[in-house]
Amino acid sequence: MPTPFIDTHCHLDAPEFDTDRVEMRARAAAQDVMVCVIPAVAAFNFDTVRQLAHAQGDVYALGIHPLCAGSATEDEVALLDAALSAHRDDPRLVAVGEIGLDYFVEGLEPGRQERIFEAQLRLARKHDLPVLLHVRRSVDPVLKALRVAGGGKPWHGIAHAFNGSEQQAQACIELGLKLGFGGAVTFDRALRLRRLATTLPLEAIVMETDSPDIPPHWVYKTQADRAQGQPQGRNEPAELPRIAEVVAGLRGMTVEEVAQASTRNALEALPRLAGLVSVSGIG
Ligand SMILES: [Zn+2]
Repeated sequence: MPTPFIDTHCHLDAPEFDTDRVEMRARAAAQDVMVCVIPAVAAFNFDTVRQLAHAQGDVYALGIHPLCAGSATEDEVALLDAALSAHRDDPRLVAVGEIGLDYFVEGLEPGRQERIFEAQLRLARKHDLPVLLHVRRSVDPVLKALRVAGGGKPWHGIAHAFNGSEQQAQACIELGLKLGFGGAVTFDRALRLRRLATTLPLEAIVMETDSPDIPPHWVYKTQADRAQGQPQGRNEPAELPRIAEVVAGLRGMTVEEVAQASTRNALEALPRLAGLVSVSGIG
């Protein structure tokens, strides 16, 4: 029996899935994607991701996304604290996320993003939960904040959609993090990322789709396609094994070996998930 996959980052509550959410999840299951990790983005979807994870047999994280930090206040951080307390015994609550910093999107107020992020790192420590990290153009400051909030102790968690340097990857690994790889690695032109996916220690890699975003090249619509009125392709968890096949090809491994390693790594990054599922041959 093939080792099932874990999609460690997918926004399955997104409106893009409103018309076919049940079928979308069934397609993922048919492709051996056993568990999807559904992160929240702000207090408005805390209940939605929790209910969805329960309805689908998946797991979830609660947090305030850096792109939502602009409108978040200290009150919203207090709401997160309260939600983490209220659901502390929920085995499907596996992390604080999606949290982090984004220095790619313009117009975000750095000071506010940083305050909201640091407060959430303290909450992750308080509630003894791993972190799902957004690190777009921000790996170094995210690592710095983790070191401060962690007080020298390692972290559990995932730097999702990792696209940093080899040195930054190494620094993440040294802090205890796994690195999330998804659709971006399927593009031939993503040279640095493909080199990382090829050379990083296998123990550091987890797989993700970031659905409905970051479509792999076979789903992606080019600018020319879109100029002709085609909408951007929608990514979904069922694409995960094919993305893993690309990683397997880069590393000269079988897709089963990538499934085994990435699933084991995901369970290590998210200990509560390990308590929830059992995968034969992994533990
Ligand atoms: Zn995300």
